[in-house]
Amino acid sequence: MLTCRELNERATDHLEGQMSLRQRAGFKLHLLMCSKCRTYADQLAKTVNLLRTVKSAATQSTPDARLIEAFRSATARNGKSNAR
Ligand SMILES: [Zn+2]
Repeated sequence: MLTCRELNERATDHLEGQMSLRQRAGFKLHLLMCSKCRTYADQLAKTVNLLRTVKSAATQSTPDARLIEAFRSATARNGKSNAR
């Protein structure tokens, strides 16, 4: 049985699929019984997904530029309404 500490240390391995079937089973079992680690693993997965999105956005310049443009026009509009 994994301890919370062991689980936290192995959480990134789990996300990257670098675990044996047996290790993964122990990991999942701990998550089923420990809500604290469940929350931790959930947040970690979200963070990793976000990092992947940012990384892939950085390699594709077009959607990134469009995003910056949208951000600019949004802040410009805000600036006008604030000046009023
Ligand atoms: Zn735990």
